[in-house]
Amino acid sequence: MPASSEEPRARLVFLGGVGEVGRNMAALELDGRVLVIDAGLSFPEVEMPGIDLVLPDFQYLRDRRDRIEAVVLTHGHEDHMGSLPYLLREFSLRVYATPLTIGLLEGKLEEHRVRDRVEFHEVTPGEEVRAGPFTMRFHRVSHSIPDGCAVAIDLPWGVLLHSGDFKLDPTPIDGRATDLQGIAEESRRGVHVFLSDSTNAEDPGTTGSERLVGPVLFDIIRDAR
Ligand SMILES: [Zn+2]
Repeated sequence: MPASSEEPRARLVFLGGVGEVGRNMAALELDGRVLVIDAGLSFPEVEMPGIDLVLPDFQYLRDRRDRIEAVVLTHGHEDHMGSLPYLLREFSLRVYATPLTIGLLEGKLEEHRVRDRVEFHEVTPGEEVRAGPFTMRFHRVSHSIPDGCAVAIDLPWGVLLHSGDFKLDPTPIDGRATDLQGIAEESRRGVHVFLSDSTNAEDPGTTGSERLVGPVLFDIIRDAR
């Protein structure tokens, strides 16, 4: 990215989740402050006997301990927020997330005895939020869990748009489809960097609506002996 002085004004580092499924976590540095985007974990492969779960590499954050502004969580899946309890063992953090994601975390954090180390900020898709040098806008995306969002963050050169996990499901179960208009608005502002979920992106074809799952489950349960 363009640098006005020797230190670049912004830096984007991936602490996990690239070229693998799980433990999604990125750190965006702007004007010396760090915004963490997602804090996921992954589950061990067969060649990792005795390992229960795999965490992202927190060393980058340890080295910038007093410069962490906040954490933003796109949705409530373990591979996007499951490492937060472990992160909170080392850091006290402000966390921006939607109500369901926060709700799913509450009990988990109690269990890990780190609930008092987090300050939750509930976000509503469609709204703009400021945290230090970061101006963020949240946009609803449909996914296999409700209350997911994409996040757009203003940079001096344009917008960094992080899609979160999404599926362009025209008939989501909760009736809340991806806010394509809000995302188009970001494109009008000028997207400088686009980070997109790509699980199964190399497989041809499309996946059916989540709505199709219910009747299938119903049949299986009805026919179960
Ligand atoms: Zn997900």
